[in-house]
Amino acid sequence: MPLTTELARAVREGDRRALARAITLVESARADHRDDAIALLDELLPATGDATRVGISGAPGAGKSTFIEALGMHLVDAGHRVAVLAVDPSSVRSGGSILGDKTRMEQLSRRREAFIRPSPSSGTLGGVARRTREAMLVCEAAGFDVVLVETVGVGQSEVAVAGMVDLFVLLLGPGAGDELQGVKRGIVELADLLVVNKADGDLADLARHTAADYAHALHLVRSGDAGAVERVRTCSALLGDGIDELWATVEQLVKDARASGALAARRTDQARAWMWSEVTDTMLEELREDPEVNARIRSLEADVTGGRVSAAAAALRVLAAFRNR
Ligand code: GDP
Repeated sequence: MPLTTELARAVREGDRRALARAITLVESARADHRDDAIALLDELLPATGDATRVGISGAPGAGKSTFIEALGMHLVDAGHRVAVLAVDPSSVRSGGSILGDKTRMEQLSRRREAFIRPSPSSGTLGGVARRTREAMLVCEAAGFDVVLVETVGVGQSEVAVAGMVDLFVLLLGPGAGDELQGVKRGIVELADLLVVNKADGDLADLARHTAADYAHALHLVRSGDAGAVERVRTCSALLGDGIDELWATVEQLVKDARASGALAARRTDQARAWMWSEVTDTMLEELREDPEVNARIRSLEADVTGGRVSAAAAALRVLAAFRNR
């Protein structure tokens, strides 16, 4: 029996060591691991797709890990099996990680019904997102019925995460507009649910006002969208207040989307976009791996930046070099 078939079987039986090994395999940057990873994913694919996939983002300090701990505990207590994955752009740039701290989600990490995997710490953002998406499929095949994908609310990683989940949640602190919170405007519009956290103690009133402000702003942005108001919530991750209501809303939104066909359409679009990003990423990798093509690219780049060759002409020459490699 091929190794990947054996591994796929163990993953589907819920063997945690097999799950960790499978994710390590899909995260591997080694070219000779890639074929095995793809074979493994093909074997697991029929067992995927039933989980609820939720993206969670927010600026550092918004309370993401506290929130995921509270939500995760609520979910496992309700009988769910929860996987937590991360796409961390800081780990891509520096090898260090905003989200990778080992002490996060201490209670949840001790539960057998939960599986927490930090962000892969190397590769491009696209590469990290691709591996996280594949890790998500592995977790689903292992029987996790809720997958939470966490990222930091500062830029491109949100777009990548929104492209792999059913529902995208943006966590905010009480007070100040999104720009002051370090969240890019487009990200707010990307969110299916906006949650103002820390609605407790002295901050409770401010949190409610902040939520009302966002609801108002969103309503203006999506004029005529009567659902905008319900899509802004408050909670206290610290006290666990509002978490169960929030999850009920998530389930309702996903149920509605399933019934209307919007969920199937979203996943179809995501799968198609994913395939094309695989095509471009793989082509770019192959392009850069060939030393001759790479040398040609560097000299053409110098010609373009020096104003000697137009970008369009250089692009054609790069592609010609790629074809003739
Ligand atoms: P992250 O950087 O987004 O993961 O944020 P953390 O979960 O590490 O939380 C940042 C800080 O906010 C910590 O000191 C938390 O204790 C605090 N915090 C998180 N959630 C709440 C909340 O619901 N209420 C209050 N008052 N503080 C919170």
